[in-house]
Amino acid sequence: MEKLKVLHANFAGCEGCNVSIIRAYPQLMDQIDLDISYLRDGSCDYGEYDIALITGGVCINDPRTVEEIKEIRERSKVVVAFGSCAALGGILRFCRGGQEPRPDHRTFQPINSLIEVDYSIPGCPPTPQMLQSFFKFFISGNEARLRLFKMTSKLKKLSGFDLIDDVVLTGLCIGCGACELSCPTGAIKLVEKRPTLTQERCIRCGTCYIRCPRASQIICMGGERS
Ligand code: SF4
Ligand code: SF4
Repeated sequence: MEKLKVLHANFAGCEGCNVSIIRAYPQLMDQIDLDISYLRDGSCDYGEYDIALITGGVCINDPRTVEEIKEIRERSKVVVAFGSCAALGGILRFCRGGQEPRPDHRTFQPINSLIEVDYSIPGCPPTPQMLQSFFKFFISGNEARLRLFKMTSKLKKLSGFDLIDDVVLTGLCIGCGACELSCPTGAIKLVEKRPTLTQERCIRCGTCYIRCPRASQIICMGGERS
């Protein structure tokens, strides 16, 4: 089978998602050709792609970046937001600008605020295994296993607050602990099998929501979140 032509383009973020992609790549080399030329020379000279993997959110105070992401959309059959900043805004939602070297950069958005996104894979960062699973399901056409990623691409924000509201306070929680295990900041702890959120620790990455068996069902059923 011909390899998929995949672009990795990186916008505002901490680089953790990029490391995950690099760690996933050895297992994917037989299936994809990965264009990561921006890492080598900062190149924005794009070709045509089967899939664009986007990491990081977009600074809407930067017209060049806004144009760049629109160009990537035009050149790619499928766009995947990889990681919480690209998918949901994540920690970038706390940006208020005023920092050197770009004090004017104050407003960041998930990429689906600017372009149509086909699949979103939240996580801070998502594991390499999540990316490997995504490609496995994508290449085999397993729509059922891709549904969570597809439905998540329509969301613009997700956090531990939403998990508490939608799952814990509605009595849907089964006390499995997946939220606590998946939280990168330790914001969620189970107390007597009931998730408790330390609000100031929540970086709004949405990982707990995606990993929760109850909450992920809400997303897959096209629930109320938006
Ligand atoms: S509680 Fe943890 S996993 Fe959930 S959104 Fe907040 S930081 Fe992310
Ligand atoms: S992952 Fe969901 S079901 Fe499991 S303990 Fe957390 S909130 Fe409850």
